[in-house]
Amino acid sequence: MQKLVERFITYIKTDTQSDPESQTTPSTEKQWNLARFLAEELQQIGMEEVTIDENSYVMATLPSNVDYEVPTIGFIAHFDTSPDFSGENVNPQFIENYDGSDIVLNKEKNIVLSPSYFEDLLLYKGQTIITTDGTTLLGADDKAGIAEIVTAMEYLIQHPEIKHGKIRVGFTPDEEIGRGAHKFDVEKFGADWAYTMDGSQIGELEYESFNAAMAKVYFKGKSVHPGYAKNKMVNSLLIANKFISMLPENEIPQETSGREGFFHVMDITGDIENTTVQLIIRDHDRQLFEKRKETIKQIVEELNKTHKDAVTVEIKDQYFNMREKIEPVFHIVEVAEKAMKELGITPIIKPIRGGTDGSQLSFMGLPCPNIFAGGHNFHGKFEYVPVESLEKATQVIVNIAKLVAKK
Ligand SMILES: [Zn+2]
Repeated sequence: MQKLVERFITYIKTDTQSDPESQTTPSTEKQWNLARFLAEELQQIGMEEVTIDENSYVMATLPSNVDYEVPTIGFIAHFDTSPDFSGENVNPQFIENYDGSDIVLNKEKNIVLSPSYFEDLLLYKGQTIITTDGTTLLGADDKAGIAEIVTAMEYLIQHPEIKHGKIRVGFTPDEEIGRGAHKFDVEKFGADWAYTMDGSQIGELEYESFNAAMAKVYFKGKSVHPGYAKNKMVNSLLIANKFISMLPENEIPQETSGREGFFHVMDITGDIENTTVQLIIRDHDRQLFEKRKETIKQIVEELNKTHKDAVTVEIKDQYFNMREKIEPVFHIVEVAEKAMKELGITPIIKPIRGGTDGSQLSFMGLPCPNIFAGGHNFHGKFEYVPVESLEKATQVIVNIAKLVAKK
C-alpha cells in the first residue's frame, strides 16, 4: 500500500490537462505521456492483455484465478485533468496528522485552505492530507482513481490466495470535456459491468445522474439607424432578454438541490441583428426532463407569435440518467455497498447533480456506477485528498473483486 501514494504523486506530476476546443482524441498531445506510462506500468506489475489504442485508451486484464464461472467486472478512471485550472508543475504538500486548523497553501499569495469555508476538512482530523501549493489543481480527479486501481491490481497479483474472477481495467482521456466515454470500446472491454472510481468523499456511491440536454436559441433582428427606427427596428437582444425572463425564475442551479432540475443560461452573444442564447437543461426525472424541453419550445412558439418567426431553437440530448440501466442489475450496487460496509465505510448514496462517464457507458451497454476516489474541491487550487481515503478506495476495489467471486 505504500506504493499507492508514490504512484499518485508520479501521476499528478504529469500534466494531462484536456482542451474542449480541440477536435482530436486525446484532446491534448500531453495526455499520451501518462497513457503510455500507465500501459507500461500495468505490464510491469503483471497485468495481461495490456493495450493502448489510437485514441490513447488504456485497457488491461487481470485473469481469473478460480475454476468456476464468475462475472467479469471492470474498473475505470480518467487520466485527464480539468481545463478549468492549471495542472502544470503540481507541487503537492503533505499535511500530517491534520489538526483541524487552517492550511496555508501559499504564504506569498495568501491562499488558505480553511475548514471554516470547506467544512469537509474536519472529517479528516488526525489524517494525512495531500494539498496543492495554491498555484495548480491537484489532479486527485481522477489520478487518485488510477492510483487506486493500479495498486489494487498489484495487490491482487501479489496475493493469489485472494480469489477473484476476471477483472478488466480501463483508463480514458478527456472525461473533463465530456468525451471520456465517446470512444470507449465497450465490446473490447468485455466486462459484465464496471465501476468508475471518480467520486469524491469517502463512501460515495452513485448510480443516478441527471438527464441532460443543451439548447441553442437563435434570435433574428433587423438593424435600422436608431434615430429613424420607429416601427422598423427589431432588436434581437431584446427578444433574447424576453426569452430568458420567460424561463421559470427559480429553476436555476443556485436555487435547486437534491433531485430538483433546472434551466441554466450559460452564454449570450449578439448584436441587433443576431443573438444566440445557450442553455443547458437538467433533471433526474425523465418525464420532467422531457417537459422542460417542451417548455423551451413553448416559449419560443409564444415569442414567434409577436415576433414573426424571429426565434428558432435547437435542442440536443447530452446524456441520460444511468439509473434506468442500473436498476435492472441492482446487485452491482449492492456488492459495492457491502464491500464498503465490511471495511467500516458508511456508503453515501445520493443522486449526482451532473453526469459521469458511467452515465454514458451505462447507455452504451456497460452498467457503471461511480465510487469515491477520495478527493475534494475538484478543478481548482483547493483540491485535496486524504491518504486514508486513497487507501480505503483501494481496499474497496479489492473487496468488490473478492465478493463478486464469492457469489
Ligand atoms: Zn473526474
